[in-house]
Formats: sequence, structure tokens, C-alpha cells
Amino acid sequence: MPSTRRQFLAGAATLAAAPSLAAAPPAGRQVPSLYRTRIGEIEVTAVSDGIINLPPQVFGDANLAESRRLLAEARLPTDGPVPCAVNTFLVNTAGRLALIDTGSGEALGPTMGQLPANLAAMGVQPGMVDLVLLTHLHRDHAGGLCDRDGRALFPTAELVVPEAEAAFWLDEGNIGRVPQGSRGGFAYARQVAAAYQGRLRRLPGGASPVAGVTSIDAFGHTPGHTLYRVASGADQLLVFGDMVHVPALQTRHPGWGIAFDVDPAGAVATRRRVLDMAAADRLLCAGMHMDFPGLGFIRREGDGYGIIPAPWRPLL
Ligand SMILES: [Zn+2]
Repeated sequence: MPSTRRQFLAGAATLAAAPSLAAAPPAGRQVPSLYRTRIGEIEVTAVSDGIINLPPQVFGDANLAESRRLLAEARLPTDGPVPCAVNTFLVNTAGRLALIDTGSGEALGPTMGQLPANLAAMGVQPGMVDLVLLTHLHRDHAGGLCDRDGRALFPTAELVVPEAEAAFWLDEGNIGRVPQGSRGGFAYARQVAAAYQGRLRRLPGGASPVAGVTSIDAFGHTPGHTLYRVASGADQLLVFGDMVHVPALQTRHPGWGIAFDVDPAGAVATRRRVLDMAAADRLLCAGMHMDFPGLGFIRREGDGYGIIPAPWRPLL
């Protein structure tokens, strides 16, 4: 054993310089990104759709210096692109498969759109999904519903959209009420409604679209942004959509909105309320933008919050 760190590093350099005997070339991409947990009788699988690269400016110019400080502290790039995970969650409840959110499909470039391949890797074809539940209609959550030509990618699934979310995005009279970069959402919502005509269900807050799952209003980020509580026996999981986009920043500063918030003050108030509830009740949370697999607990840290990643388990 090397006796000092210097000797250890010198030894590692010698090993690195040795010619490789491996026949397999590097793959250059991730293995299937799936992770499963159990909530009572319900199995939930985190399925990655990839990552979006965000500029640090999305939290506002006023917060840029502090943003860079926290990114450096978290060993993340300080000048962008900042990786923002995009997760979906497949809920297997009472013999039915309900997929919460769909990632972006092909809409947001090659670091995204991994959902179909990851589902296939666990043996799930789109035709096996009974319901798709949306947290909201932003493209990184709903873009995987349709292909490039606007055809439904889930051929038989019922599409469940929060009532307030459908009402807002299907009324183009609201176009002046959203940030410039989100205005394409109106045309996309119309395309989704056409593709899923006859099987689109508008879900009121507090309703149960499938056994063990209940919706919770969490408006602000979008006018119908919705969380889902998955519960069975004594266990529960809070699927909390876009409560945070870059956890290293918005848990420390829950008052920071992102440029895509439709109602910035409402989004902040909702984030504070939900993070506070999750911390107080020690809820297991599933974040669409928490680092894959997106499962963890929220705890209070100083004026803000932190995340304790859920431990990995081989058996459920
Ligand atoms: Zn969003």
C-alpha cells in the first residue's frame, strides 16, 4: 500500500499510462436510468428522460453572484450549462401503470428524450401505460406525449391533465400572461388535446385519478401546476413536479423563482409551503428536477432547506 497521498497519485499515474487490455470500447452514454422504490403495495419507478442544460441567469441577474457561489460549492459549472435533471415516475398500482409526466420527447435536443428507451429497458412499451398524469403542461414534462408530427405516443393511455392547467393553456386569450419563452405552450396544448381527443380527462384538485394517487393543487409555477401524493398503508410519496429546478440553488433560496414561472410570487409562496410541509412531515419526495433518481427527503437548513437523498436498496 502506498504510504503517502503523493506515492498513491504517482502509482495511479503509472497505471493510467499502461496500455489498456480491454476489448470493449467506451460506450459514451449512460446505461438505462431506472430506479425503483416501494410505497406500501405500490411500486414506483423513477425513469429518467435526461437533462436540460440551463444558463445560471434563469434565476435572475440579481441572484447571479450568489448563484455562482452556490454552484461552485456544489461542484457544478458556474457559467453554464447547469445540468437540470428531468425525471418521470411510473406508478404501478392495483394492476395499472400510471406514468407521471413524459419528459420532452424530441423537443429539447439530444440530452433529453430518453424516456421511451428507458421504459423499453424495463420491458414497458408505450401501449402498456394505462394513464399519463401531468404535473403541468411545460414542454419538459408534456413534450413526450406526441411525436414530431403531433401523433399520440401513448396509443391507449388516458391522459389526465389538472383542470386549471388545461383551462389555462387551451385558452389562447391568456397568451399575454406568460413569459415570452413559454408562449409556444398554447399551440402545444392544442396539439396534445387533439392527439388525445376522447381520452383526455380534466382532473380537479384533490381528486384520485387511479387507486392510491391523489392530486394536490400547487399553483404558481403554472396556473394549474399539480403535485401527486402516492399513498399505500403507512407509506407515502409526494411527487412534487417543479417545486425546485436546480436543487442546489432553490432549496437554499426558496424565494428564487425561475424565468418560466407564470406567477412568480405564487410560485415562491407554493414552494415555501410545500418544502415546509415536506420537511415537517418527513415526506419522501420525488422531484422531476432533483438529481436522478429524484428521490429524497427535505430538511430545514438555516433559512432554507436541504435534500437528503433516499438510500439505494436492492430489494423492495
Ligand atoms: Zn415547469
